[in-house]
Amino acid sequence: MQKYQNVVNGELAEPVESHKIFNPANGDLLGLAPISTENEVEQAVSAARDAQLAWARRSDKERAEITARIAKVLEENSEYLANLITREQGKPLSGPGSRFEMQACVGWTQGPASLELTPEVVYEDDERKDTLHRVPLGVVAAIAPWNWPLMIAIWQIIPAIRMGNTVVLKPSEYTPIATLEMVRLINQVLPPGVLNTITGDGRIGSKLTSHPDIDKIMFTGSEATGRRIIEASTHNLAPITLELGGNDAAIVLPGTNAGAIAEGLFWGAFLNMGQTCACIKRLYVHEDDYEAVMSSLGNIASQMTIGDGTDENVLIGPLQNKMQYEKVRELVADARANQCDVREFGDTPDKGYFLPVTLVGDINDGQRLVDEEQFGPALPIVRYRDLNAAVASANRLPAALGASVWADDPATAAETASRLEAGTIWINQHGAIHPMVPFGGNKASGYGCEFGLEGLKAVTQARVISLKK
Ligand code: NDP
Repeated sequence: MQKYQNVVNGELAEPVESHKIFNPANGDLLGLAPISTENEVEQAVSAARDAQLAWARRSDKERAEITARIAKVLEENSEYLANLITREQGKPLSGPGSRFEMQACVGWTQGPASLELTPEVVYEDDERKDTLHRVPLGVVAAIAPWNWPLMIAIWQIIPAIRMGNTVVLKPSEYTPIATLEMVRLINQVLPPGVLNTITGDGRIGSKLTSHPDIDKIMFTGSEATGRRIIEASTHNLAPITLELGGNDAAIVLPGTNAGAIAEGLFWGAFLNMGQTCACIKRLYVHEDDYEAVMSSLGNIASQMTIGDGTDENVLIGPLQNKMQYEKVRELVADARANQCDVREFGDTPDKGYFLPVTLVGDINDGQRLVDEEQFGPALPIVRYRDLNAAVASANRLPAALGASVWADDPATAAETASRLEAGTIWINQHGAIHPMVPFGGNKASGYGCEFGLEGLKAVTQARVISLKK
C-alpha cells in the first residue's frame, strides 16, 4: 500500500505512526498518511527556523524566480495532483473541480511571483528621510482545511515564501495525501527547510500554532478552531490571518431575468458540492420571481450527473467526510420537519458520502439551514417582499465573508451592494476570487487579507529606516 511522507528539511521523513485515508466516493483505501509526533513538530519548526535567514537574504528577484519555477512544477504535475485530489477530496476532475483547483494553484503562484513590495518613502523634509521596508516575519505556521486542500495551502505558503519566510504546513487530517505530494514536488526547486510539513489532527495543529518559535499563523477553517488558534497564539504573539468561512447571502433584485442568472447562482452555491468558504449559502428572491428562480435552478440541477469524480461526465461528487455528510443531512431533515419545500435532484450512488443537489424553499430566517453554515449541497431560498428587509436579512448574521447582488441592471445592484456587510460583495457573480484582488472576511468571518499586494504585506512586518540628513 502506498505510504505518503512528510517533508522536513528537504527530506522525506519516515513516519513513526500513520493512518488510513479512504476515497469518499467509494470507501476504497487510498494509502497511509503519517501522523506527526510532538518531536517531529519540533524538527519541522527548527528546520524552518534554521533555513529562514539564508532564504530571507536571497535577493527579491531570486525568490520571485524560484516562485515562478514552483508554478511550472505545479503546471507539469497538475494532472497527477488533480487525480489525487479527486480520489482523496471527492471533487470531480471535470467542471469546476480538481483540474480547476490545480489551475488555481498555478495562478495563485504566478500572482505573487509577479508582484513586488518596494520600499516606500513615507516622509521627507530638509532634515530627515523615512523609508518603510517590508521584511519577512520568520517562520509561518499554515493550517489548511479539507475543502480546497491544495489551493488553500498554496494561498498560505506561496506569499509567505515569496516574501522570505519559511513555512511549516499542516494539511487537514481528512486530506493530507495530495498536499504531501504537492509539497514533495515543490521541494525539488526550494532549498531544504523552506517548506516543511507536519500531519495529524487538531492536537498536533495546536502544538504548531502555540509553538514559541512561530512568527505568523495562517489559518482557514471553522470559527471554533479559529478561536482556539487565537488562544494558542498567546504563547508566541504571532499575528494571525484568519479565514473562518461564511454564510454568504445572495439577493436577486425584483424583476431580474431568472434564466440569465441561474447558472451563475447554481455554481455560486454548489461549487465543490457547497463545501466552499465563499459559496452562496442563503438565497433571497423577491416573491414575484421566486417560482421562476426555483424552476431555473431546478432545470440546471436536474442536468447534473452525481458520482465518482474520476468519471469525466460527473460534475457533482461526494461530500468529503462523514462529519460533513451527517451535518448537511441533519440540516435538511430539520427543514423537512418544519414543512419546508425540499426539492432533491440527481441519482446518488449507494456507496460513498453522496447527497442530491437540494433546493429548499418555503424557508425563513431563523431556521437552521438558513442560520447555520451548511457547507454542503443544500441551498435555502427565502422569499422577500421588501428589498430593505432582504438587505437586513443578509446582514443579520455574524458571518460576513462574501455576499452578492444579482440584477439585469448592474447600476441598481451597485446601490444594494453598498449596503451589504461582507469582505467582498460581488455583482452578478459569486465567489469570483482572483490572485491580484484582496480577499478576507469582515465580522466573525475573520481578519487579515489574502491575495495581491495586501496578501504579501500580511506575511511581512514593517521596518522603518529613519535617516538624519
Ligand atoms: P476545522 O476548523 O476544525 O479544521 C481546519 C483545520 O484546522 C484542519 O487542518 C484541522 O486539523 C485544524 N485544526 C483543528 N483544531 C486545531 C487546533 N486546535 N489548532 C490548530 N489547528 C487545528 O474544521 P472542520 O474540519 O472541523 O470543519 C467544521 C466546519 O468548519 C465545517 O462544517 C465548515 O462549516 C467549516 N469549515 C470552513 C472552511 C473554510 O474554508 N473556511 C474549511 C473547512 C471547514 P484536522 O482536520 O486535522 O483536525
